[in-house]
Amino acid sequence: MQYPTVFDVIVVGGGHAGTEAALAAARTGASTLLLTHNIDTLGQMSCNPAIGGIGKGHLVREIDALGGAMGMAADQAGIHFRTLNSRKGPAVRATRAQADRQLYRVAIRKTLENQPNLTLFQQAVDDLILTPVSGAGSAEVQVTGVITQLGVHFHARSVVMTVGTFLAGKIHVGEANHAGGRAGDPPAMTLAHRLREMPFETGRLKTGTPPRIDGRTIDYSTLQAQPGDTPRPVFSYLGSVDDHPEQVHCHITETNQRTHDIIQNNLHRSPLFSGDIEGVGPRYCPSIEDKVVRFADKDSHQVFIEPEGLNTHEVYPNGISTSLPFDVQIEYVQSMRGFEKAHITRPGYAIEYDFFDPRGLRASLETKTVAGLYFAGQINGTTGYEEAAAQGLIAGLNAARQVKGLDAWTPRRDEAYIGVLIDDLITRGTREPYRMFTSRAEYRLKLREDNADLRLTELGRHMGLVNDSRWQAFSEKAEAVESLKATLQGLWVRKDTPEAAALNEHTGLSLSRERRLTDLLKMPEVRLAQLLEIVSPDLASLPAQVIDQVEIQGKYAGYLDRQQADIDKTLTQQDIVLSDSLDYATVGGLSNEVRQKFTEHRPGTIGQASRISGVTPAAISLLLVHLKKQS
Ligand code: FAD
Repeated sequence: MQYPTVFDVIVVGGGHAGTEAALAAARTGASTLLLTHNIDTLGQMSCNPAIGGIGKGHLVREIDALGGAMGMAADQAGIHFRTLNSRKGPAVRATRAQADRQLYRVAIRKTLENQPNLTLFQQAVDDLILTPVSGAGSAEVQVTGVITQLGVHFHARSVVMTVGTFLAGKIHVGEANHAGGRAGDPPAMTLAHRLREMPFETGRLKTGTPPRIDGRTIDYSTLQAQPGDTPRPVFSYLGSVDDHPEQVHCHITETNQRTHDIIQNNLHRSPLFSGDIEGVGPRYCPSIEDKVVRFADKDSHQVFIEPEGLNTHEVYPNGISTSLPFDVQIEYVQSMRGFEKAHITRPGYAIEYDFFDPRGLRASLETKTVAGLYFAGQINGTTGYEEAAAQGLIAGLNAARQVKGLDAWTPRRDEAYIGVLIDDLITRGTREPYRMFTSRAEYRLKLREDNADLRLTELGRHMGLVNDSRWQAFSEKAEAVESLKATLQGLWVRKDTPEAAALNEHTGLSLSRERRLTDLLKMPEVRLAQLLEIVSPDLASLPAQVIDQVEIQGKYAGYLDRQQADIDKTLTQQDIVLSDSLDYATVGGLSNEVRQKFTEHRPGTIGQASRISGVTPAAISLLLVHLKKQS
């Protein structure tokens, strides 16, 4: 029989983590196998049909800057785009797109099918092939392949596990429950059983989704319409609005006192309150029954009615995820304005699943106890497509680098939100589904959506993640930015000239002396595009991306320089490596509690050690003294 069964990297799971992992590994030249339950559900959005949002949009841009698929797929599938926080500073501005579910899947599948070095195979994975080893750090075994449900053995030196909510997945709708990976999909029971036998800390989490509604049964005439933004944002650095399909409106309704009464009266039938669900749910995406109980003083919650796609009537009512019984779902849905005759096409449900304590991972996302085995996505305790995709890209990249004998790479906290995400997970762990926010990043002025390419594309190119066309587009942009910055240094507006008069007319500024453009740019009322129109109309025709970048860098130069100085100072210590074999019992002066935490977490660097909760600056000083004595 001629059938390829030996690869460099095997990725298990074709969700958001798995697809980016497989693409990243294959882009770097590793022969890669993506094994998933169902090829038709590659890139499936299990819950809301939307990509991006606060913090998450930043992740999408970073994935895109590193050559990933999510940004381009969101452009090809986005049917309603917005820039959130558009009136706030550039650090917290975030792109969000409502996506046509089907178009998104098509875009991801097309990317996967056209990726050289990548093989797809539809089959559940039931087991890992492990081989005892010595000298693989703290690991005593090495993964060498996987075994599928049909008993096919596939071999590889690296395996990336991205099985999402499927491990021992249990779906709840009121008092009823059954095993499932998500609605309509089987759970991964055998694999879950096998992984529970391995030396990983396993926990249970839960998440939920709302009932879907047939849009033809909604009375839109009573609802407020919400159009997308103009100008329309674009996700990918290579994208344009021409990539976007037809655009549609979202709508808004809200719960009311009657809705809340129905929910209150039926709480005893919710598995969340009856004790049937033991997993912890996402704090920032609570179910409607959670909201009604937690915010009992509020008599209304907004519900965003989001279209599921261009070729379907189904809509996603964002804000009423639930695990209440189906009859209660019908009653509370129909209590809302515009939904009086609403027909539910799919009941809402909650799902419980196994996850693994991410403190058992290295920064590369390799598990500490099984060499060559990487975990990415929801199984690391995160929630969200973007968080999963970001981890997938890094795990896939590092799985491929390991096979080639190259050092692992993970961005630092000051380089990318992806770095913040992974560092938070591996040093702090999580007790509830973790999602990204801009507030999690201490260097958010630097980590903006607009400059993810300038932060990451060159690094991605060196590691083989960025193809020629992206590299060329990036290089042209980066050159144009530098050239415009240099040109601005030599441009002035002089007092009592037509340029000064035009400036006064557009901004109200009157000049008492000549001013350099770079100084004028720092004034809040001055926009660079406008300034260029007045002073040098030729430059005003440069791409908006270039002008915006120079404007942001110019306006925030002082703050950015100060932040960089802070980063440089901390970096000198943060990167000091802590050996896997460091015996913390020999570090003098540490409290028992801190010693225990270091021994348990085994931080890889001083930076990671300092971010373990309860670790004081004094303890870090003791550790530094110890390392100095040893050297
Ligand atoms: P998934 O997207 O779940 O993909 C896992 C993949 O692995 C699937 O393709 C599956 O078929 C495959 N697979 C599983 N086991 C095996 C096996 N043994 N062999 C082969 N293939 C296998 N996120 C939010 O941000 N907000 C929300 O409100 C939200 N609500 C959710 C509600 C529900 C009901 C669900 C199910 C998910 C929800 N999510 C939500 C989470 C979001 O769907 C995930 O964060 C995201 O999809 C995780 O991506 P992933 O790649 O880790 O896993």
